[in-house]
Amino acid sequence: MPDRLFRCRPLLPALLAAALTPVACAQPPEPLPGVTAFTGVALWDGTGAGLIEDAVLLVDRGMITAVGRASDVEIPAGAAREDLTGKTIVPGLVNAHGHVSDVLGLEGGHYTRENLLRQLALYARYGITSIASLGGDGAEAAALRDEQDETLDRARIWIAGEVISSGTPEEAEASVERSLALPADFLKMRVDTNLGANERVSSETIQRVMELGEEAGKRVTTHIFYLDDAKEVLRAGSGLIAHSVRDQPVDQEFLDLMAETGVCYVPTLVREISTFVYGDIPEFFDDPFFLKDADPAVIEELGDPERMAAVAASPAAQGYREAYPTAMANLKVVADARIPIAFGTDTGPAGRFQGYFEHIETAEMAEAGLTAEQILRSATGDAAACLDLEGVGTLEPGKWADFIVLDENPLEDIAALRSISRVVIAGNPVPGSEAN
Ligand SMILES: [Zn+2]
Repeated sequence: MPDRLFRCRPLLPALLAAALTPVACAQPPEPLPGVTAFTGVALWDGTGAGLIEDAVLLVDRGMITAVGRASDVEIPAGAAREDLTGKTIVPGLVNAHGHVSDVLGLEGGHYTRENLLRQLALYARYGITSIASLGGDGAEAAALRDEQDETLDRARIWIAGEVISSGTPEEAEASVERSLALPADFLKMRVDTNLGANERVSSETIQRVMELGEEAGKRVTTHIFYLDDAKEVLRAGSGLIAHSVRDQPVDQEFLDLMAETGVCYVPTLVREISTFVYGDIPEFFDDPFFLKDADPAVIEELGDPERMAAVAASPAAQGYREAYPTAMANLKVVADARIPIAFGTDTGPAGRFQGYFEHIETAEMAEAGLTAEQILRSATGDAAACLDLEGVGTLEPGKWADFIVLDENPLEDIAALRSISRVVIAGNPVPGSEAN
């Protein structure tokens, strides 16, 4: 009966309908296109506030307009409603150190718009909705970064441009100039010897790049391995320590430098694992959560006995394996010192599986002794704040509606981040993310 009343108006001549409306037609609210209220859900907003048990998240054309307890949020008449009773919402994860790269399968040389979009969709299906791509980025990525409007349904990208790892200050200037022309969102500098295999970039070049970053108002993110290098780049003005210190335990001087500069620390634990894990068949080759998005040809190639033997015999693999416990211990010390941790994985290069490896990283962070809440904060609001990524990381009014709907509560066990019911970016469901 009510349906027939709602439909009565168009069936009548306009004037008569207007005259009769107040009497005969109980009008439904006008639909509000683009407005959706997600209701009945437990919600953790990424700011460090506690879980809201019966929450409403209100989204208008991709942006959050209200979030809070059901009793505190007024749902406008005409909003579409989605009942998510029993589910938990957390912000989409922010990866402060990934690479949206030229790799396809295990092979480089495929830096195309299509391949970048493939990777951003892959990250998104696993709940990683924002990527800071720290190096190897070109004009195709800059164009994608500039297209991120309310129609978006793949991961967001920010870019560092070229990686500076050697050369004179003048050569570094030319490289920075090319990155700034993209324009890059931050700069990337690699200060490392690859376990003694190559010469480290000079202190003069480090200094020059930091000056250029400061002039341009861009953070210089730094790859380091050694404690002494980490201290040097911090003193020179680094804007992000993009890997773990792995040669020795961090000391008070390092912690003081981190605290004074306000710079964040990115563990990238899974990057270490990737250097030695293919000396054997990795356990995750049996994990359905990995297999659902893995290319069988790549699995076969990584499992080739000759390839595995070469990895197992590689001094670099052994060196990184030996350094791994130091990285784990240092993460706990840095976290205990209340230095902000920015979640990051260094995924993207061959064998570092985007999307899936982020879930290994969260498990390893837990193994290192971080609580589920510490891990979640590092992968949401803190990662975004560490790189000044606007509009993401937390679920607050004025931010993008980038979030994960989970079947289980990750504050109880971080592994619940795998129980993805759906990933949403700018209010849009990510294709292929449902019911993994
Ligand atoms: Zn990297």
